[in-house]
Amino acid sequence: MDRRCFLKSALLAGVGAGVLRGLPATARGIPAAAFPELPRDVCYPGPPSGTIVTSVTDLYKVGPGPSSSHTLAPLRIAADFRDYLESLPPQALAGAAHIRAHLYGSLSATGKGHRTDRALLAGLLGQKPETCDPAVMDDLADEAKPRVTAVGGKTFTLGRDTIVWDRVDHDYPFSNTLVMKLVSSDGAVLASREYYSTGGGFFAFKGRPVEERGQPPHPYGSMTAFKEVAAKSGKTLHEIMLENEQAIMGVDAAKVNAHLDLVLDTMLAGVELGLREEGLLPAPFAFHRKARRIHERAKAMQGGEALLQLVSSYALAVSEGNAAGRLAVTAPTLGSAGTMPALAYVLHHHLQRDRQAMRRGLLAAALVGYLCKNNASVAGAEVGCQGEIGVASSMAAAMLAYATGASLEATEVAATIALEHHLGMSCDPVGGFVLIPCIERNAFGALKAYNAALMAQNEIVSEHWEDLDRVIMAMLQTGKALPPQFREMGTAGLGMTMVNC
Ligand code: SF4
Repeated sequence: MDRRCFLKSALLAGVGAGVLRGLPATARGIPAAAFPELPRDVCYPGPPSGTIVTSVTDLYKVGPGPSSSHTLAPLRIAADFRDYLESLPPQALAGAAHIRAHLYGSLSATGKGHRTDRALLAGLLGQKPETCDPAVMDDLADEAKPRVTAVGGKTFTLGRDTIVWDRVDHDYPFSNTLVMKLVSSDGAVLASREYYSTGGGFFAFKGRPVEERGQPPHPYGSMTAFKEVAAKSGKTLHEIMLENEQAIMGVDAAKVNAHLDLVLDTMLAGVELGLREEGLLPAPFAFHRKARRIHERAKAMQGGEALLQLVSSYALAVSEGNAAGRLAVTAPTLGSAGTMPALAYVLHHHLQRDRQAMRRGLLAAALVGYLCKNNASVAGAEVGCQGEIGVASSMAAAMLAYATGASLEATEVAATIALEHHLGMSCDPVGGFVLIPCIERNAFGALKAYNAALMAQNEIVSEHWEDLDRVIMAMLQTGKALPPQFREMGTAGLGMTMVNC
């Protein structure tokens, strides 16, 4: 694909966006009278209320792969537990002999493949997610090698016994539960915390005090409310997002932009690193990288085929790096970490969008991510892959549309189309590894996002029936109806059929 083809599609997108700017908002819904035979309670109850106070630093987190819920969150949890132990008075640690991490649910079922054990050990050893050296994670694969760490003035030996692969079926309130314990030599529990990995690298623990955050000047809890805020204030999407972020986190615009730049730099570097690497990915079966090969061949192609293959290679490059434990960005998770970088790379490398346009695109994607996270879920363990690749595709579509000049309404339609056409997608990673179907799924998420952005900018948005709030609600409902074995257990679907008896 030569640069002219990319510029042509960008020009088309820009013209579409310009024509559509100023058209009325969508979110209208179909009158019940159109379906007189349907029961009266089969209808839309309206958009959710509430105020979203999620930050871009919550949504876009940098850390080692392969999984945000099973690798990054456990690393953050272990680091948090370590800090908690450091905060205890010396007498609380006096009789302590061991640290234990009990894994439940999908963390126990698929944690080995997701490097959950290594992440926990890395966090307990004092590693931080943003700077965690992938070589440290690789070295931790040697379970026989004991590691020594000092916490609160006491020395602990960490090893195979530190990780307890506990019950897959359990009664804790969240599927991915992790109970961290400080125990004495006779097994008495001296301190503990019950943690929940809630998707996208987020975590919570039982009894955690509510974090104090500032109130956003432009409150919204749904896309419908966001559009009302935009119409009333006369502000753009990115202005609202930036002003809210500053107030919620108590920071200035420079700090927000610095985080957005870290996110963009990590995404772009991930594409370039992944396009250079070859060979096998870490797995108990031979799984070959293919991003570089596809990229090399795509450069010799022409027209639409080249575009499809280039975008795929960018997504594969980051996803393969994530599977190898390289640093990636939760967008919204690490399993789906390749989708947005593929289109960020297109914006930067092919469409030559400047940093300002790309930051705006990231803010548009963040809006979509916040709505999905707060009004449904971005955890494969809760709503299946529609919450990971589906949301990533929706965010990527919003980013591409907005960064190429789409209106708020066209940006919403782009995000809506991309999410809608992932509804029902289950999570069935083979062997619990973020390889099959995850890596290729990122490429398809990116391609759907590209198509969604183009469709949104070439249709008449006021004629589009579906809106983002309704599709997010449908995603939640569909996810709740998925059988548990199709929510990150790795024991059904491809997770079952790909393994010989
Ligand atoms: S199938 Fe989808 S949700 Fe499940 S681990 Fe893979 S990328 Fe994540």
